Amino acid sequence: MTAQDTIFSKIIRREIPADIVYEDDLSLAFRDINPQAPVHILVIPKKPIVNLADAESEDHKILGHLLLIVKRVAEQAGLENGYRVVINNGADGGQTVYHLHLHILGGRQMQWPPG
Ligand code: 5GP
Repeated sequence: MTAQDTIFSKIIRREIPADIVYEDDLSLAFRDINPQAPVHILVIPKKPIVNLADAESEDHKILGHLLLIVKRVAEQAGLENGYRVVINNGADGGQTVYHLHLHILGGRQMQWPPG
């Protein structure tokens, strides 16, 4: 799939505002505009990978990096009691923005199974 210029690319380029909590050369983390928990942060690669299904072998370094940034951002957000990490992939996965992102959800008890 060809990467589209999504709202997240505009956030990376600072064309639209976001509450950015972390940034490095490869990734950006910012608060979700429609939070589903007291803490709801999105971690995205700066590379416009469409979703997990579209990631390639050459992306292994960035994918590992994103998980370590999730850990770092969750610690920074004070989620020492735990949190959930979610990747919605494709239509059935509930993905609405087609730029890979990891949701960090925390600050309340999560339920299982998810909806
Ligand atoms: P998805 O449903 O694709 O897994 O998640 C997309 C997430 O992006 C949703 O939780 C939605 O609230 C969030 N989102 C969509 N547009 C914006 C935006 O312009 N700014 C921010 N901060 N979050 C957004």
